[in-house]
Amino acid sequence: MGALDYLKEQLEELESQGLALHPRTLEREQAARTRFDGREVINLASNNYLGLAAHPRLKEAAANAALEFGAGTGAVRTIAGSMTMHRELERRFAEFKGSEDALMFQSGFTANSGTVAAVLTREDVIVSDELNHASIIDGARLSRAEIKVFPHKDAEAADRLLADATSTGRRLLITDGVFSMEGDIAPLPALVAVAERHGAIMMVDDAHASGVLGRGGRGTVDHFDLHGRVDVQVGTLSKAIGVLGGFIAGPSQLIEWLANRGRPYLFSTSAPPAVVAACLAALDVMRDEPERLDRLWDRTRFFKEGLHSLGFDTGASETPITPVITGDEEKTQELARRLFEEGVFAPVIVFPTVARGRARVRTIVTADHTEEDLREALDAFERVGRELGLQE
Ligand SMILES: *Cc1c(COP(=O)(O)O)cnc(C)c1O
Repeated sequence: MGALDYLKEQLEELESQGLALHPRTLEREQAARTRFDGREVINLASNNYLGLAAHPRLKEAAANAALEFGAGTGAVRTIAGSMTMHRELERRFAEFKGSEDALMFQSGFTANSGTVAAVLTREDVIVSDELNHASIIDGARLSRAEIKVFPHKDAEAADRLLADATSTGRRLLITDGVFSMEGDIAPLPALVAVAERHGAIMMVDDAHASGVLGRGGRGTVDHFDLHGRVDVQVGTLSKAIGVLGGFIAGPSQLIEWLANRGRPYLFSTSAPPAVVAACLAALDVMRDEPERLDRLWDRTRFFKEGLHSLGFDTGASETPITPVITGDEEKTQELARRLFEEGVFAPVIVFPTVARGRARVRTIVTADHTEEDLREALDAFERVGRELGLQE
């Protein structure tokens, strides 16, 4: 008997409930059509919205940076691991987001968790959408602030929670910009008004909105024209930007505070040159090839309309993320398995990523999918959906 044997039983339990994860293995570049587990498939699984992950200019920038500056930085940012290019990327991001300054983190996850934990204390209150990302929830827990959760997108409920907060401490109102499993957009104008009424800090996590919403992909603040009214903007460099990392954009006192008190920033080694250079190249490509964003939305509309007319339940999605909700865990596993056999990869999303009984496959269209790819994918959805009795 080993001390960790109980985990075996728990894993068996997950397996029997259809909740165990078995990720597929990508055998080539991330692309609209690529190979997973030995099969050529139409790939509706990635966050590679703009097709930048394997863009020639990003690859070249990464390779050149590795050759010139090395494979690693050798230190955390605050000791010896801050290179000129890190600061340049931060300046470029601040400019992109229309904020005073920005700070790069190792991931979007640590940008969220590190920032929430650094800005709030146990005297404070966090008011958070029930579907906010795990990294926000972890940051909220780390801060030790009181956490109040409001029903999804319910700005009036957020208002009441802030009004009821008896604590004399600071208040943070926090939301995802685009919800990663639903594909819907936060009611940011209403939330900003609520935050302003209560003097709360307004923070938005634009992981799935950066590169996707707003002019040139500037995110939800730009999409809703709320410049200057959102205190903290979170972004990831790992999704539409195509590489790896996270960042916080905001006023300079916030950025300076995080550079002193953001624990992931302080205690984890900085991003390697290849990563930073590729992110800079991504910003260049987004500026030079704006048609990618237009194409992303064209393809999104095409695919969504297709799924709707086939009668699938796609929830409240209004972005390139379109879930196909079956509700049932095992049925979802079967749907994903059959789609894959038919040459379409769309991943299974189950508890704890979504609530029990809200199981789904999630599709994400990218700028690099052709209409032909998407027509083929819709045909597969139609065949498999009929087989499993999923269409309304
Ligand atoms: C993916 C995601 C993150 C984490 O970003 P990474 O860069 O992958 O760590 C944070 N918030 C939301 C809403 C996300 O979807």
